[in-house]
Amino acid sequence: MSENQLAKLREQVDQINLQILELLNERGKIVQAIGEEKKKHGTNRFDPVRERESLDLLLKNYDGPYTEATIKHLFKQIFKASLELQEIDYERTLLVSRKAHPENTVVNINGETVGDGVQRFVMGPCAVESYEQVREVALALKEHGLTLMRGGAYKPRTSPYDFQGLGVEGLKILRQVADELELSVITEIVTPQDVELALDYVDVIQVGARNMQNFELLKTVGSVKKPVLLKRGLSATISEFINAAEYIMAGGNDQIILCERGIRTYERATRNTLDISAVPILKKETHLPVAVDVTHSTGRRDLLLPTAKAALAIGADLVMAEVHPDPAVALSDSLQQMDIPQFHDFMNELNAFKERLV
Ligand code: PEP
Ligand code: MN
Repeated sequence: MSENQLAKLREQVDQINLQILELLNERGKIVQAIGEEKKKHGTNRFDPVRERESLDLLLKNYDGPYTEATIKHLFKQIFKASLELQEIDYERTLLVSRKAHPENTVVNINGETVGDGVQRFVMGPCAVESYEQVREVALALKEHGLTLMRGGAYKPRTSPYDFQGLGVEGLKILRQVADELELSVITEIVTPQDVELALDYVDVIQVGARNMQNFELLKTVGSVKKPVLLKRGLSATISEFINAAEYIMAGGNDQIILCERGIRTYERATRNTLDISAVPILKKETHLPVAVDVTHSTGRRDLLLPTAKAALAIGADLVMAEVHPDPAVALSDSLQQMDIPQFHDFMNELNAFKERLV
């Protein structure tokens, strides 16, 4: 074959490639239109029967030089890409997405706002243990002008033999201290049945990592008028996390704060691996404020300050950490809670760091 002939054939192949590309573009647009129709009618996007019919039609009409398996493989790739195209479109229309709502959602907690550009803190003990313990921590919070206090009354513990929390008694302690010192209470509720009761005591309902896909709980907190702090599941992808928030918003409650709290990886140097890049991703993909829990993500007191700085630098709206008057005797998470002097240093350092950021 002469050089000239080869160049001509290659030119033909290039032209055919361009034609295939144009057809793929055209096909993609039709697939998107089909996706819109399916969404309107609530039809499942993956339709294996339809895919089988399409493949049969292609193979019946095929008599080219490739094997049938190759043709099947090539078209399977095209079908897969089409499905992905429809899924991307679908995701962009979630209620929590930026596409649906370009402005930032600002969560209002008794007049304190989260998501308006001012970076805030939510601090408090891992678990409520007594009135005195909560009050001592609350007084320390007040010294820094903080208004958001956390504390667990229902503790989802790995072992059934570990301290499970004081339950309603704990909610009452939180409310009493908060009322005395004009603070707001953020606390975890673990069952749908307790949500109504909690409304009288709490200002923000926390849905914990272990319950991120407790869909009945998500639906219940979606149906009430109370802000919700939703934690990322232990091994949840960002997409699963966003969909969990969608459950809440679909119920009519748009007062949601997303909380990155570390995910499980092979790394054992920290309790979990803080996925810091989740913060800008969540802020880009959704209109919700994003918190970072530095205590449960690291599980290490010595890492609370550097990770909190990272959270502020990367644009988190809220930083969560745990404080206990005497962590050594705490009934949960004793290794990672700060004592009160450490908390003061932590806040002073972070406030100085915040100044440098602006
Ligand atoms: C908590 O914040 O008290 C807690 C248990 O955290 P997580 O659900 O992230 O483990
Ligand atoms: Mn804890």
